[in-house]
Amino acid sequence: MSRPTPPTPSKPQTLLQHHLRALKLPTMLREYEKTATLCAKENADHPAFLLRLAEAELLEREQRSTQRRVKEARFPSPKTLEGFDFAAQPSVNKALLSELMRGVYIAARENVLLMGSPGTGKTHLATALGMAACGLGKRVRFFRTTELITQLMEARDDRQLTRLRGQMARLDVLILDEFGYVPASKLGAELFFDVIAQAYERSSIVLTTNMPFERWTEILGCERLTGAVLDRITHRCHIIEASGPSYRLEQARRRQGGRAPARAKPS
Ligand code: ADP
Ligand code: MG
Repeated sequence: MSRPTPPTPSKPQTLLQHHLRALKLPTMLREYEKTATLCAKENADHPAFLLRLAEAELLEREQRSTQRRVKEARFPSPKTLEGFDFAAQPSVNKALLSELMRGVYIAARENVLLMGSPGTGKTHLATALGMAACGLGKRVRFFRTTELITQLMEARDDRQLTRLRGQMARLDVLILDEFGYVPASKLGAELFFDVIAQAYERSSIVLTTNMPFERWTEILGCERLTGAVLDRITHRCHIIEASGPSYRLEQARRRQGGRAPARAKPS
């Protein structure tokens, strides 16, 4: 039995499909027939029909570019504010975080510092802020601080530092995760300072750390450099502190029926 052949589109339809493709309007191309039928049924006029199609195209385009920005940001894993249990971390300022999610700090080039012990949700919150920024059309990049310093040193060796700096200069939000886990070398600290100095008043920095300010010299080595970094990062910045227990540890404890886990190792 032969399969019924689909009706061949009439000439204007063929032309329309060609034009929509040429104009790069894939959603309109996919939806116009369905929307036309719907609008005919609802007695919607031509501008209403066109409006619906244009809205659908715009919405899909925005979704695609958000997805692209999220991919380019290279988050370790996707996180949302909805997925954050504030009851488990009552010290975190929920009102401030909700406001930061709206992204006003980005336009004002303000920074965000997330401070607290391991497992308190700093990376989670930094990622959630970054993903929200992607949704607002901002260019975001997530780095573990040690990873960034390694990349900067490698780029310098390969004479690619200017290119990397150029890429970083285009960011709206630079996320520096886990500042303070590993002390930087002298060169590493200098390159790190250079990134902070370049981002100052140009991009927003979202930095997470388990280190109180007094101990930053231990990471960056030199007191003068530490002062210069602190000065730039803390000038116009929002501080979010998580002083509660480690979420990982609490979960492990719960899994073990309330007993302390065998190896309660911080991250
Ligand atoms: P930190 O960066 O402070 O060490 P993370 O953000 O990596 O902590 O959190 C460790 C894990 O626990 C992650 O999977 C994170 O999503 C989860 N987590 C931490 N705090 C919370 C919380 N309050 N609600 C939900 N999940 C949390
Ligand atoms: Mg972390």
